[in-house]
Amino acid sequence: MRTHYSAQLEPTMDGKLVKVAGWVNDIRILGKIAFINLRDREGYIQLTFPKSKVGELFDELKKVTKETVVSAEGIVKANKEAPRGIEIIPQSMKIISKAKAPLPMDFSGKINSELETRLNARFMDLRNPRVAAVFSIRDSLLTGVREFMDDNDFIEVHTPKIVATGAEGGATLFPVKYFNEKAYLSQSPQLFKQVLMATNFDRVYEIGPAFRAEKSDTTRHLSEFTSFDFEMAFIDSMEDVMSLMEQMIVSVVEHLNKNVSDELDLLGILLDPPKLPFKRITFDEARNLLERKSMDVGEDLDTESEKALGEIMAKRGYDFYFITEFHSDVRPFYIMERDDVHCHSFDLDYRGSELSSGGQREHRYEHLVRRMKKQNLNPKDFEFYLNAFKYGMPPHGGMGLGVERFVQKLLNLPNVREAVLFPRDRYRLVP
Ligand code: ATP
Ligand code: MG
Repeated sequence: MRTHYSAQLEPTMDGKLVKVAGWVNDIRILGKIAFINLRDREGYIQLTFPKSKVGELFDELKKVTKETVVSAEGIVKANKEAPRGIEIIPQSMKIISKAKAPLPMDFSGKINSELETRLNARFMDLRNPRVAAVFSIRDSLLTGVREFMDDNDFIEVHTPKIVATGAEGGATLFPVKYFNEKAYLSQSPQLFKQVLMATNFDRVYEIGPAFRAEKSDTTRHLSEFTSFDFEMAFIDSMEDVMSLMEQMIVSVVEHLNKNVSDELDLLGILLDPPKLPFKRITFDEARNLLERKSMDVGEDLDTESEKALGEIMAKRGYDFYFITEFHSDVRPFYIMERDDVHCHSFDLDYRGSELSSGGQREHRYEHLVRRMKKQNLNPKDFEFYLNAFKYGMPPHGGMGLGVERFVQKLLNLPNVREAVLFPRDRYRLVP
């Protein structure tokens, strides 16, 4: 239908016959001349209709509403008065799909539409180049992640999303009727990627959906999110995991700056490549800092203390930082204990928000079973998982990172829902 996208047309192409297609962003009929501002995925192009030159086509324009899909064939004309110094004088135009009026929402950015309205009419919201840019950046981010993991000899795997047991606690499990059995939607690939550490694949990663029945309604939780997980075996300590992770982050930021700089500019986002190594601060140190600010921190950081820590770290010049050595009672059963209180686990935070959790896992069967029992879990429910620890399991570790959370924080989006095409939360199942 088209020979060129709008952005491929330039004043130097004056006199060339071209075909364009897209949405009518705007139409103005002024006596003897009319203009259509046509939008396609790359930008905008002006179609100019002098009544004297286009003849009957001029009357057709009355039928054209905003957002109607049209295609047009015409001659490129350099014109300093037109946007980008270029316009097309159409010889023919087809109305391909007429848009009803009024539109379900204004996506021009002139009116600040509520997120609710935008998500209800997402097909229209995504016509806003600024909204679309978020998803081009998300796409590029995932390409950057995959390239980095590939360069570091990881293989991409896919594990089941219908599972018999949860890995991250019973409170956020979604039950599913699975023939005659009880099943759940997977909260994370944790157990499966660990089982894979007992195989030849000692470096695996997965980018896939994770489901959590989050009861609270926050700007950073979804019921369905995309989890980027990796697991690596034959590690000396969780430092191996953190080191790979920080290199991955730097590599992804570089990838974004190289490949989606226009989109980042459009959103006014400047991504400084973070400096290596990232700051590491233990949980106890973080707690001390917060307590000096009269914050009452228990055994774990809540949203408020994460935020306050973010401010302290920002003052010291750190955007990304690891919080290490959490207390083992507040971490999952699969994490390795270090002493009576602490464990080998970390969070990666960015400007006061958790992006990822990870650590070294307990690979010793007896210790793992002991830890399960301590957390009131029944080892029988985890037989498929535990079996993999009985016949040779190397030391290993890994992490899980929420892709939407990452996009949200990097792009400074007020709500994580803006980083998902069709978000799922407690109150949203459609569209
Ligand atoms: P939080 O404390 O922020 O609720 P969590 O510690 O429960 O997260 P983890 O089990 O550590 O989450 O999951 C690893 C990562 O997955 C988190 O750091 C976060 O980026 C992402 N994540 C977890 N739950 C959600 C969710 N409901 N919506 C979006 N992302 C999530
Ligand atoms: Mg976590």
